[in-house]
Amino acid sequence: MLTITKSMIEKISKIMDLDKKEKEILSKYFKIQKANLKIKKHSYKAFRIIHNNSLGPGKGGIRYHPNVSEDEVKSLSFWMSLKNSLAGLPFGGAKGGIIVDPKKLSQDELQELSRKYVRAFHKHMGQDKDVPAPDVYTNPQIMSWMLDEFEKINDKKEPGFITGKPVELGGIRLRNDSTSKGGFIIFNELAKKENIKNSRIAIQGFGNAGYFMAKHLSKNIVAVSDSSGGIYDPKGLNIDKVKNIKDEKGSVQNYSAKKISNKELLELDIDILVLAALENQITKENASRIKAGYIIELANGPISNDADGILFKKKITVIPDILANSGGVVGSYFEWLQNKTGTGFEDSYIERMFDQKMKETFNKVYNEYKNSKHDMRTAAYVIAIRRILDAERLRGRI
Ligand code: NAD
Repeated sequence: MLTITKSMIEKISKIMDLDKKEKEILSKYFKIQKANLKIKKHSYKAFRIIHNNSLGPGKGGIRYHPNVSEDEVKSLSFWMSLKNSLAGLPFGGAKGGIIVDPKKLSQDELQELSRKYVRAFHKHMGQDKDVPAPDVYTNPQIMSWMLDEFEKINDKKEPGFITGKPVELGGIRLRNDSTSKGGFIIFNELAKKENIKNSRIAIQGFGNAGYFMAKHLSKNIVAVSDSSGGIYDPKGLNIDKVKNIKDEKGSVQNYSAKKISNKELLELDIDILVLAALENQITKENASRIKAGYIIELANGPISNDADGILFKKKITVIPDILANSGGVVGSYFEWLQNKTGTGFEDSYIERMFDQKMKETFNKVYNEYKNSKHDMRTAAYVIAIRRILDAERLRGRI
């Protein structure tokens, strides 16, 4: 993953004509913190990494996964710097992780591990230093335990220390589906610009991001998949029924429609493909067989660098992850703001501000993209990096 980040920095540096100092700024990490968290006889490696903080405190989720590594957390923190910068938020980029399979822990052990994570890194965290959030296999309950531990250590209330909390502890109602809602708003803006109509849609991944996206899009969804495989009906799927069947029987494949593999789903003859599962799903191996005209990256990094070039030549438009899934962190921003100012924003106010922020960000990227000879990902990176480097320059660091 770190190789992808490095080659992306190289590519953008050439396009933006960055000098050595500017490239160094993008390649370095402000703070790399590591700890071993002991629960009974086991020791779990944990990380919290801040990539860049020139625009504000670090911001990014904490991932609990057996395959998390320092390199992965570094790459994800870099992407968070870009995502936060692109959305115009007052945040730098950060990410955290623990190498653990949370499914093997009891609730008590999970709570102990989460509290120990905060004890290990609390000196470097806080609403004005570094603000964590949920990511893969972490959730509002874990955020609540972490908040409680942080406030206990510091002997004061500071709900803005962490986002993705339950509403009762200062969270916002929008956060649950803010990622897919943001992706939906952005897709609608693109549809208006490019006159996209009557589209047949396939969605890879039927979890939090994929399911809510399916609900927002609601019509013309002809295929969905999960880790067991996919289903296809050219006449359209009933998303509520698919969801009920997945909840009852464990997989979308129990729905009565033609069973297809995940590989087949990606290569269907459709108009729009939503990637909402894992990284590296479209690579140079299958990129030439993709038939969709538009791809929405709700997942982080689902298309490899090589594949990007192939898709661009085929005139397939990709809405890149740092734009398409930025609704998650934009939602977090309103939660942080509400906590910092001690207010409780009305839901309708948050919805309105959220909608405005997503549209503004899309239009910035779309204009840059249309005025360049590159893809939308490159346009988004250029805008994000420009803002970070401007802040660095103003601070006298370059
Ligand atoms: P999730 O765990 O809720 O759902 C993931 C879904 O992908 C599940 O349905 C799973 O069965 C499916 N899946 C796993 N392996 C698969 C495979 N090989 N093929 C097809 N489907 C497969 O996770 P999520 O929160 O929906 O996140 C999905 C992606 O979106 C991740 O890349 C995540 O980083 C990204 N993302 C999510 C959010 C958010 O707020 N949920 C925000 C930003 C980015």
